Amino acid sequence: MSTRLDGRKKDDLRPIKIELGVVKSAAGSCYLEWGKNTVVATVHGPRPMFPKHLSNSQRAVVDYRYRMAPFSVSDRKSPVPGKRDKEISLVSGFALESVIMTEKFPNTVINVNTLILSADAGTRVAALTAASLACADAGLPMKGLVSAVAIGRANGDLIYDLTKDEEDAPDAVDTAIAITMPQKEIALLQMDGFVNKDDWKKMVSMGFSAAEKVYALQKNALLEKYPVNGDINE
Ligand code: UDP
Repeated sequence: MSTRLDGRKKDDLRPIKIELGVVKSAAGSCYLEWGKNTVVATVHGPRPMFPKHLSNSQRAVVDYRYRMAPFSVSDRKSPVPGKRDKEISLVSGFALESVIMTEKFPNTVINVNTLILSADAGTRVAALTAASLACADAGLPMKGLVSAVAIGRANGDLIYDLTKDEEDAPDAVDTAIAITMPQKEIALLQMDGFVNKDDWKKMVSMGFSAAEKVYALQKNALLEKYPVNGDINE
């Protein structure tokens, strides 16, 4: 196939840059650039849940918020959270919860805030990837990380990590997939568009291999800040 508009091959991800501990007042934080996407994720807590009736006596509640800054896209985005922000927050929170040992912190809340500073498609997966690192940076006990990526189709090709231009192609399919690592279980799967069964199977397997690449970068970022002897999975 021909190269893509930004020069990538179909299985290339955009460049990803990760920095941990950028927000000193938070328990944990992560700054992440993913192509032209920029996101900051912070973690506060676990802390007592108020009002108390929202708490869970068996585990911590993960309050995940996905927000786009008004200046993150060319048409100003309203700072008031809309349906899209709320839906992304809800499903991303479920995905993140699956790797945090919430049972260790009953009656508390863990506040995870992700703010998109610039957007070029794939922001929900960038935010979730950053949020899981911010949780690790906060020292939360975790079973693993969530590695998220978008897979899809544009201009007749199945491709990794779509840009906004690619998402706007007439035949576009856009699938956000989040995998727990190292367990390799699907924690989030959302799709826009239509595909046949064969392409769907290919896309899911592409999602797993792209998530491995994201996971490798996440581990590098953690090891850079928190050097350990041996493998981080041990
Ligand atoms: N977008 C926008 N305004 C909005 C929501 C989205 O301009 O209110 C753009 C933004 O570039 C975003 C892209 O559309 O990254 C794709 O949005 P989508 O809902 O597919 O989520 P994403 O791919 O960012 O997770």
